[in-house]
Amino acid sequence: MSGMAVAENAAPALGDVLVRLAEIVFKQKGRDVQALAPISLRLEPGSFTSLIGPSGCGKSTLLNAIAGFTPLTSGSIRVDESEVAGASPRVGVMFQQYALFPWFTARGNVEFALKRFDMPSAQRRDAALKALAEVGLEGKGDYYPGQLSGGMRQRVALARTLAARPNVLLMDEPFGALDAQTRLSMQELLLVIWEMRRTTVLFITHDIDEALVLSDRILVMSAAPGRIVDEIAVSSPRPRSVENIDDAYIANRSRMLRLLRSADNTH
Ligand code: ADP
Ligand code: MG
Repeated sequence: MSGMAVAENAAPALGDVLVRLAEIVFKQKGRDVQALAPISLRLEPGSFTSLIGPSGCGKSTLLNAIAGFTPLTSGSIRVDESEVAGASPRVGVMFQQYALFPWFTARGNVEFALKRFDMPSAQRRDAALKALAEVGLEGKGDYYPGQLSGGMRQRVALARTLAARPNVLLMDEPFGALDAQTRLSMQELLLVIWEMRRTTVLFITHDIDEALVLSDRILVMSAAPGRIVDEIAVSSPRPRSVENIDDAYIANRSRMLRLLRSADNTH
């Protein structure tokens, strides 16, 4: 079978995100604060994009808008051709704080997240166990969050997000609170899962190396109100690692450092 024939017969790839001139203005003590300057970008189905920029530039605001948590002041955001209007199971979100319920087991936490979908309880249980296995927590379903390490808790949070099988995965500094070693193993796990599922990923980080190791593309934002000031295509072969870097990696790294320094100075 030729690749062409497959492409013609295949359903269109899901997880297409189109942000067009999205702007967000918050009211703060009666004053208008522009948290996001009109911003346009596209996340192609199956791509892995990192978003990096100085603190307060609007990264989380943009992510929350794509997730459907924060309404736009103007502009539009579409996921797979339909306008974002509130949270949707097609879009999964993961934050730095895992916010697990301590009184539910690992499996209970994942199942609880599935409750908002119309799914029989046996199927929910099945999906939860599968997602836990996918993040390397097979056999740990009956543990309570308090019995798990920080890394394991973040794995439960990832399983909770993956169990709904989203087409888009939005991650807001998800590994920012983890120690260096745990962080590396979470990055590896995320890449394994991404390569299996080809979910579209938008990953916010302030760690240049994390962005370079994970992404196909890095968007650099300026200081508030954030605009995208550079776009870096990362084409170093995978798997990548900070112990095994090439010239392109070094060049991209210095380019980002320069940009982030000047982005910070404008503040
Ligand atoms: P980042 O994630 O890049 O650090 P944020 O998106 O959290 O930045 O914040 C961007 C700006 O918007 C900041 O000035 C922040 O204070 C402001 N902001 C964020 N959320 C709200 C809100 N709900 N109400 C008012 N201002 C907000
Ligand atoms: Mg943030």
